[in-house]
Amino acid sequence: MEDCKLQCYSFDLSSGNNPAHVTMANSFTRMMTGRNTAVMLAVGAGSLASGYLLTESAAAAERRRLYPASADFPDLRKHNNCMAAALTPTIYARLRDKATPSNWTLDQCIQTGVDNPGHPFIKTVGMVAGDEESYEVFAEIFDPVIKDRHNGYDPRTMKHPTDLDASKVTSGMFDEHYVLSSRVRTGRSIRGLSLPPACSRSERREVERVVVTALSGLKGDLSGRYYSLAEMTDREQQQLIDEHFLFDKPVSPLLTAAGMARDWPDARGIWHNNERNFLIWINEEDHTRIISMEKGGNMKRVFERFCRGLKQVEHLIQERGWEFMWNERLGYILTCPSNLGTGLRAGVHIRLPFLAKDPRFKKILDNLRLQKRGTGGVDTAATGDTFDISNLDRLGKSEVELVQLVIDGVNYLIECEKRLERGQDIKIPSPIPQKMRNV
Ligand code: ADP
Ligand code: MG
Repeated sequence: MEDCKLQCYSFDLSSGNNPAHVTMANSFTRMMTGRNTAVMLAVGAGSLASGYLLTESAAAAERRRLYPASADFPDLRKHNNCMAAALTPTIYARLRDKATPSNWTLDQCIQTGVDNPGHPFIKTVGMVAGDEESYEVFAEIFDPVIKDRHNGYDPRTMKHPTDLDASKVTSGMFDEHYVLSSRVRTGRSIRGLSLPPACSRSERREVERVVVTALSGLKGDLSGRYYSLAEMTDREQQQLIDEHFLFDKPVSPLLTAAGMARDWPDARGIWHNNERNFLIWINEEDHTRIISMEKGGNMKRVFERFCRGLKQVEHLIQERGWEFMWNERLGYILTCPSNLGTGLRAGVHIRLPFLAKDPRFKKILDNLRLQKRGTGGVDTAATGDTFDISNLDRLGKSEVELVQLVIDGVNYLIECEKRLERGQDIKIPSPIPQKMRNV
């Protein structure tokens, strides 16, 4: 395999296939793999003469040009997601005919949000990236969506911080009368390979190969093995799902509408250590999801293992000549804009029978920038009085800040629960602002 240094180009398909409009973001190494190879060869040659490699995109562009952008604008009148709120006919018209170097288009980015007007339990973003360059080529729509989703974080003027020093968090031991389990997860994408909505089968298998090979280098309490979905029995898979270790079957319309369930279960799987408290999902919504979890309320210990394991995984990937997608404005690049920045979701399964019945519960969560899910995952309703409570934002604050925010927030909820048990009143805390970190 050959490396090639490339800059980030945006093809404007409405003006032919010339790699015009060079929207340089950051230079990066793109591995020559899968269908990207064809597009990059065309970029390298820099001429329309190599256009036969782009036949498919040229035909698609030709077809689009038959109609004005206004005729293609999606009907978003009944929608309630961030994309639908931000997409105007003017933005759509400017972006419709553009594509990334791997030939990923705006319509492909927003399809999931068009097909899923809303979600029964959370407010969704309504769009995904097909590759790292999507966030640059379609910045005009991604940026306002990111700002809306991440509490005012402005990717044009702000820098994202990273801090994986777990010794800095305090009060990370929850009252286990309320907290049943603690978990911290993030995602990481392998630079140079298309993201799950767009990847070819070969790229997906390459992600699996690169990551699984690297993970065999984990040692001590982190050492473990990979379990491919294709080689698991249905019972084994269901057991892992029921025990909250494994991602769900591809039932989520958010996943299917974005094209992320194609070829299921090809090249998907879970790697976990022998103690099953450090886990890595491969090729679900992201190339990788890295998870530290355990029963009980020791969030500090969970976060310590998360930071230690994540650093080792990154080191092992880098040793083999690969790197994670990252830039200073957006942090770690993941499929869904809701996961940009840290990619971190720190959460607990928590029993709150009194607070759950209190009308102020939602406002308290909103002001603490916390999100509530059902305990079976994002697509499940909360049953009874047990919830998955986690940080809502992932961008603009560091890992340490977000975990501390969850610790303080969950301790506040437990305090409220105890007060309500005793028949005392509770207060809605004031909203947590986004920190302004200008570039
Ligand atoms: P993610 O945002 O990590 O993709 P999902 O909401 O899709 O999370 O849930 C994935 C799985 O992780 C589900 O089985 C869910 O029950 C489990 N899970 C999430 N948070 C916790 C937690 N704090 N304790 C135990 N299991 C959890
Ligand atoms: Mg999920």
